[in-house]
Amino acid sequence: MAEKRDYYEVLGVSRNATEEEIKKAYRKLAKQYHPDANPGDKTAEAKFKEASEAYAVLSDPEKRRQYDQFGHAAFENVGGGAGGFDFSGFDMGDIFGDLFGDLFGSRSRRANTGPVPGANIRTSVRITFEEAVFGTEKELELNLKDECESCHGTGAKRGTSPETCPKCGGRGRVIYTQQSLFGMIRSEQTCPDCRGTGKIIREKCPDCYGTGYVSGRKKIKVIIPAGIDNGQSIRIRGKGEPGLNGGPRGDLLVDVEVARHPIFQRKDYDIYSTAPISFVTAALGGDIRISTVDGDVIYTVKPGTQTDTKIRLREKGVPSLRNKNIRGDHYVTLVVQVPTNLTAEQKELLRKFEDSLNGKSVNTDKEENGKSKRKFWK
Ligand SMILES: [Zn+2]
Ligand SMILES: [Zn+2]
Repeated sequence: MAEKRDYYEVLGVSRNATEEEIKKAYRKLAKQYHPDANPGDKTAEAKFKEASEAYAVLSDPEKRRQYDQFGHAAFENVGGGAGGFDFSGFDMGDIFGDLFGDLFGSRSRRANTGPVPGANIRTSVRITFEEAVFGTEKELELNLKDECESCHGTGAKRGTSPETCPKCGGRGRVIYTQQSLFGMIRSEQTCPDCRGTGKIIREKCPDCYGTGYVSGRKKIKVIIPAGIDNGQSIRIRGKGEPGLNGGPRGDLLVDVEVARHPIFQRKDYDIYSTAPISFVTAALGGDIRISTVDGDVIYTVKPGTQTDTKIRLREKGVPSLRNKNIRGDHYVTLVVQVPTNLTAEQKELLRKFEDSLNGKSVNTDKEENGKSKRKFWK
């Protein structure tokens, strides 16, 4: 047998390489020389074996310390498997499980005999702008899994019960010991007989086909709180998929979609809208009617109000989700309407009005069609 190469040299790392550097170096070599990637290539196989051996030692702090102190002598006369190196002390699943998980097919290390919580279910509900402001209650109908009444969720036919899997003794995982190119390898895998559940059902429940669950349309009441906004969601605990092995049910997540309102816009807890006012009201002042989510309110416009004037209606906005006694405001932009389709008489009045602003005397002879001779202001 040729002189063994230094483990650090094999992996191409320095003697004070970190665990991460060692892992990275090994990963690269393993990927390159793995027998699955180089079928029948003896050189690649040897390189893979050499790198794996180096990694098995250097990735273990205790073995690395021994190796640093004594070199290869630290592991001589131990076991004596193929190549003089004994792998029986290593759980190869531990060493390679995380390294090859994504390279050569995933092998879940987690035994699934314990309680597993059910998955969450997501659905959505569409509500109006006003419903979002004041809150509402909706009934949703959806397909939900429920425990099968015939077998109480065990999946076994009535009168029978699931048996402990004889292959794994209920552990859900089995340990294999095999001779390989590294020597003896011990690896742990999901039990193929029970697929990790630890239980075997001899006779399946006919009502749920052995799944333990039945699916059906279910009506669920959702309370939508005042102040909810578009895109927010409501979590209803325990209304998701059932759990496994006694695990709790998942949650139902209801995404809320708020329909657009024809006149109101919302930003956080404030509402925005525009309101038209006649140019006469803008000039002289007066009462106008403004729509709010609480119904119409009368607002008194000050004389000389300009277009685009913003007014605030306090606490006419959206209630806060956290404290419904706190409400946002409603901001209204007043838009002065310029009259169109004026009659000849109205045009005449406006010209007179304009002349009066320019300090000119009103010349009644110039009036169109000579219709109106009346003076409207003095
Ligand atoms: Zn059943
Ligand atoms: Zn089993």
